[in-house]
Amino acid sequence: MSRPVQEKTWRVIDIIHWAEDYFKEKDFDNPRREIEWFLRELLACSRMDIYLRFEEALSKTQLSTLRKWVNRRIENEPLQYITGSTAFYGRKYFVTDQVLIPRPETERLIEIALEKMSAKQSWEGTDIGTGSGCIGITMALECPDSKFLGLDISKKSLEIAQKNANLHQVENIHFEEKDILKNGFEKPVDLIVCNPPYIPIEEMETLMPDVKNHEPFLALTDNEDGLTFYRRLSKMADQWIKPNGWLIMEVGLGNHPKKAMDIFRSSGFKQVELIKDYNGDDRILLVNIT
Ligand code: GLN
Repeated sequence: MSRPVQEKTWRVIDIIHWAEDYFKEKDFDNPRREIEWFLRELLACSRMDIYLRFEEALSKTQLSTLRKWVNRRIENEPLQYITGSTAFYGRKYFVTDQVLIPRPETERLIEIALEKMSAKQSWEGTDIGTGSGCIGITMALECPDSKFLGLDISKKSLEIAQKNANLHQVENIHFEEKDILKNGFEKPVDLIVCNPPYIPIEEMETLMPDVKNHEPFLALTDNEDGLTFYRRLSKMADQWIKPNGWLIMEVGLGNHPKKAMDIFRSSGFKQVELIKDYNGDDRILLVNIT
């Protein structure tokens, strides 16, 4: 009589060991991070909790999901697209490959914007190129008396942004489809925030495969020198922003921040400042409209 084949039991700890070796073999920089990301999602728990659940056996369904995820990751698909979400400013955001993955550096933009607007009670703001909606939604949540508008040229990204707004039940933001390089808006606002596509087209090839092969081209590069949006904003800021209002933008690396700043300086703006992120890189360009 044949005995039923005993399937191997995979406990959380076994998976961690296996995956760490596997991702190492595939030359991933931080193998432990890869598997922790998946386990957090699979077990719906925090990073710490994974280690408290070391002995727990994974179900067949969990194992088969994990297998699919690992196979996608080996092709350099970002973790965030695979599990469908990420965290930004301490909150969950849904992401698909139709939107840029929110970056920790962009949280610096939020801090600056909150600081600059803290004196005002009710005011209006616009998030240009809202993508997942992470900047506009965070601002709207942190400033419940403000009214926010999120703009994007991509319909698909606006669907994700709306889904994220619903997730956080935020009422003081709405979204509109707009190509701000061609169109503007009539009523000036108190604050414009923008993390534009700023990678020069000639630098696209140098990006990590995770980014260049998976994140939306439209969200990364302006297809030119990475300065198109700053030029446009420098032309329109006086019309789009009220006197004493703020324009707060993210900038890139190397000499990009200086170039972006020079665009505003040579357009006659006097109050222009670069602010560093926590890596010590100039990251935020701040313009006070006088
Ligand atoms: N505003 C979104 C973000 O900061 C998207 C930006 C973009 O697509 N360039 O993540």
